[in-house]
Amino acid sequence: MPYDVRMTDPSSCDRLGGCIHICPEKVWKWAEINGRNLPVPVRPEDCTGCMKCIKICPPKIIEVTVE
Ligand code: SF4
Repeated sequence: MPYDVRMTDPSSCDRLGGCIHICPEKVWKWAEINGRNLPVPVRPEDCTGCMKCIKICPPKIIEVTVE
């Protein structure tokens, strides 16, 4: 089942990188956005919908939806 993975409010990201470390499918990667290093879902097509990134994100700004 294809999932869409996104960060709803990048300006609220605390940049702890929990999503990058916990994702079993390596969907997230650090990338520079407007001069800030942020986790970015670079391979959303590999997402299995486990929701681990959502649970570990302190500001709750990750959204995973079924496409
Ligand atoms: S839901 Fe699971 S597989 Fe999908 S991006 Fe988050 S941690 Fe990775």
